[in-house]
Amino acid sequence: MINLIPEYFVDTIYDIDFNILRRDGINTLLLDIDNTLVPFKTMIPEKSTMEWIKLVKTEGFKICLVSNAYPRRAQIIAGKFDVPVIYMAKKPFKKGVIDSLKLVNSKNTEAIMVGDQIFTDVFAARLAGVKSILVEPMTKSDFFMTKIYRILEYFVKRNLKKEKMK
Ligand SMILES: [Mg+2]
Repeated sequence: MINLIPEYFVDTIYDIDFNILRRDGINTLLLDIDNTLVPFKTMIPEKSTMEWIKLVKTEGFKICLVSNAYPRRAQIIAGKFDVPVIYMAKKPFKKGVIDSLKLVNSKNTEAIMVGDQIFTDVFAARLAGVKSILVEPMTKSDFFMTKIYRILEYFVKRNLKKEKMK
């Protein structure tokens, strides 16, 4: 059975501690889009998220978005953040994560996946040998398939404790 426990579990992207990541040898953030960076169904990122992406860059981390979203939506959002993107990533399969590593020229051990879903983001990262950070979903609305995953997720998440990164 694959280990579906993320390395870190925090509330939002703003709780990610860059110093801890550096300590862990991480130089690359692979970011999920829907309900991690941008609420589901929204195309316009919040100002605070735009600023956070800028901060991640300033802190010296490489970024690649890894999303199951369709090309148009994923590319528009990646364009707003001015970062590369792998769309239709087909998480929980690992191919999209592997492709994103190639795109930004990082090793799997140097990257960490940030996402709101255990059965897509954490799972795909694990299969690709990438660490992961689970965040709480930004909104309660989800794709139909995601709603099913959420039920399974409940059983994993109830054993997880959200805490400050350390
Ligand atoms: Mg998501």
